[in-house]
Amino acid sequence: EPLLVGDLSARYGGAARGHRSHRTGRDADLLLYALTPDGRPVRSPGFIDFGPDGLARIGAADPASSGADEYVRLDVEREWLLVKSLVRSPDAHVQWLFVARWLEALIIEYARALGEDPELVWVAESVLLQPGDSTAHADHLHLRVACTPDAFLSGCLGGGPYWPWLPAVPQLVPPPDVDLAAAILDDLLPGGAAAGSRVAAPDSAL
Ligand SMILES: [Zn+2]
Repeated sequence: EPLLVGDLSARYGGAARGHRSHRTGRDADLLLYALTPDGRPVRSPGFIDFGPDGLARIGAADPASSGADEYVRLDVEREWLLVKSLVRSPDAHVQWLFVARWLEALIIEYARALGEDPELVWVAESVLLQPGDSTAHADHLHLRVACTPDAFLSGCLGGGPYWPWLPAVPQLVPPPDVDLAAAILDDLLPGGAAAGSRVAAPDSAL
């Protein structure tokens, strides 16, 4: 059963931060799932970097701490379930799941070891991406959704890929009717001078 992002935010505290990219309403930061070192699920400690070993150090800056390093571990099982739910949901329209490449490696490795459907893993690998123009995203999973087919109609310009497995986008612009365009210009311009090659190129009509 699919997880809902709003639901996740409420239950696990995956709050949106002040990303510039969040202004479009197509982005959400999801905190990473965490375990204690001995494997008990814990609430996410917040935006803290997880390393290639899957560990994140917590409380390092706290002078009142015992001095011993304390760690949480990436809960790769729950993280994969989240990724899987998002990419399989017909309603989520996932365009990207930005995350550090070493965390993607842990997640995909886990999915393969679990024997997940190779096509599903391939889709997950396609959308999981370390962004090139901001931080590596080792402290959260950054969901960016594509414009939905409905949103396209109301002017959503997404940029980036529209993956072939997402719902089909409606045809926004019918092929221009060259004859109609010529007839309109004939009406507008004296002598019908416009009819002809200047309006004959369909791809320049807009
Ligand atoms: Zn982000």
